[in-house]
Amino acid sequence: MERDTDLVRPTKTLKLKSFSSTHNGGLIKDQYGRTFDYVRIAVNERCNLRCVYCMPEEGVDFLPQNDLLTTDEIMRLISVLTENGVKKIRFTGGEPLLHKGIVSLVGFAANAGVKSIHLTTNGLLLEKVAKPLLDAGLTGINISLDTLDHQKFVEITRREGVEKVIDALNLALSLEFRSVKINVVFMRDFNHREIGDFVELTREKPLTVRFIELMPFDAHQIWKTGKFFGAELIEKEIRRLHPGIEPDSGTATEHSLFKVPGYAGKVGIIPAFTRSFCGECNRIRVTADGKIRNCLYSDDEFDLKGLIRNGANDVEIGKEIRHAMWMKPEDGWVAQRQGDHGRESMTQIGG
Ligand code: SAM
Ligand code: SF4
Repeated sequence: MERDTDLVRPTKTLKLKSFSSTHNGGLIKDQYGRTFDYVRIAVNERCNLRCVYCMPEEGVDFLPQNDLLTTDEIMRLISVLTENGVKKIRFTGGEPLLHKGIVSLVGFAANAGVKSIHLTTNGLLLEKVAKPLLDAGLTGINISLDTLDHQKFVEITRREGVEKVIDALNLALSLEFRSVKINVVFMRDFNHREIGDFVELTREKPLTVRFIELMPFDAHQIWKTGKFFGAELIEKEIRRLHPGIEPDSGTATEHSLFKVPGYAGKVGIIPAFTRSFCGECNRIRVTADGKIRNCLYSDDEFDLKGLIRNGANDVEIGKEIRHAMWMKPEDGWVAQRQGDHGRESMTQIGG
């Protein structure tokens, strides 16, 4: 088995650029030449599941509602972000479908001209809102589903519901979303033997199954249990089952994207822990309490909610966003060395 120390490998070295144009309009940039046109917005922290890798059974210290961005404040940020060149939005959480304003937020983003609007959800509440979300302008949906087995689902999420999530997936596939993806956090002994079943889902359906490396967050102990299964091993396992898989073109985080010849869908591998894609990172993260995190692994946060509530204008908010992203660490390993994760769960960051 791979050990943590075997996994530390350098990411592509980035070239340092001068500070000059960072506050002068155009795309949001950092000092290493990366540009940021994709924002992930966590609309809440709460959730109706308790996935073992994300939260303890009793949940985490959720912030009081007043500390979270309101729907209007999220809309304000969407306006500023789009004025600053952001072209793609993903709504996440917590569980974004627990947010009463989620359809309005999607509609607002669509009206602001955002052409690529995605949502990551556990799918439990999708049935009622799938069509309204599509009509409001949602273009893509990622459903998190780590197992197809009833009992394993209960073990992983500490709740019932796999049948509901599979129904949600079928519903999403029957509607006209531009993309439907499944997020599978890949874990030794929990679900690694289901890899073939997940790949098989791509035979008939035009969906992408994405196997995601487990990431360490401290509130849950799963990281220490030997469940980690690295991207290289995931690929090896897929190749063992399907020696003929072919590379396919993908986005920044999906550079390991494959297709089984003749299958309708695709299979992706996301090296979320080994972080071999930092050089291509184009994401801005906004937490539910209105902070920018310029890297998933960084503890530095830049307070947009404070600015909004103190009456800052759009230019000032835009400058803070640019400043936050300019300060982005060179890669996730550097970011991790600079602090020790102030947030205890992915539900507080948005994944
Ligand atoms: N509740 C929604 C869901 O589960 O899809 C959205 C929020 S969730 C935090 C976003 C994504 O982060 C999910 O696909 C989830 O599987 C992933 N995630 C959460 N904790 C993780 C961890 N420790 N390692 C890897 N992925 C994780
Ligand atoms: Fe909830 Fe998503 Fe975290 Fe699971 S991964 S507990 S569904 S926020």
